[in-house]
Amino acid sequence: MGHLFVYVRFFLYLCTRIAGLLFRMLTRLHVSCMLKIASYDIVFQEVPGETTLALNISGCPNRCPGCHSPHLWTDMGEPLTSMLLADLVRRYRTGITCVCFMGGDGEPQTVFRLAEQVHEAGLRTAWYSGRAFSPLAEEGLPSGWSEGSGALDFVKTGPYVEACGGLRSPSTNQRFYRRRGEGAWEDATFLFSRSNPDLLVSV
Ligand code: SF4
Repeated sequence: MGHLFVYVRFFLYLCTRIAGLLFRMLTRLHVSCMLKIASYDIVFQEVPGETTLALNISGCPNRCPGCHSPHLWTDMGEPLTSMLLADLVRRYRTGITCVCFMGGDGEPQTVFRLAEQVHEAGLRTAWYSGRAFSPLAEEGLPSGWSEGSGALDFVKTGPYVEACGGLRSPSTNQRFYRRRGEGAWEDATFLFSRSNPDLLVSV
């Protein structure tokens, strides 16, 4: 009877080790096709009216001349897993109203999936994309947009063009949209106008 108990314990131990090994292998496979965050910060200007946890995502494919953050072109930082996102949301939940994905143009569908997770936690979501597209148009939308964009409340689009300036510039090529309902968006770039009281500091 004593021997049987030892064998059972050994068998259970082996099962646990094998399960752990398989889990680590699967996690690595999953992580290899994930977005990575180089840094994060609490910001007040990127999404007017919101206190935002901004996740700076690396691996940007856009290569805008005059880019303010060329270090984000490389594949650097920590994999943005669901677990890491849940941890960040839990940590800052009481002080923020919104989570903004700054980048992620290499994997829009991952952005949508993670935005859904943020929505489920009761926060608003924003995506700063460097792609030139408009939610008001039917063509040129990122892959997965029709299924995934319902998880976004705000979208900034357009590459950075030095001669045009950022969202606060009157000649900007970039646009800022907010969702007004199921599949309905409005161009809300005017929120970045210098007369908007939410923007007390220059961006
Ligand atoms: S989208 Fe942003 S991070 Fe990417 S190249 Fe353009 S300015 Fe730089």
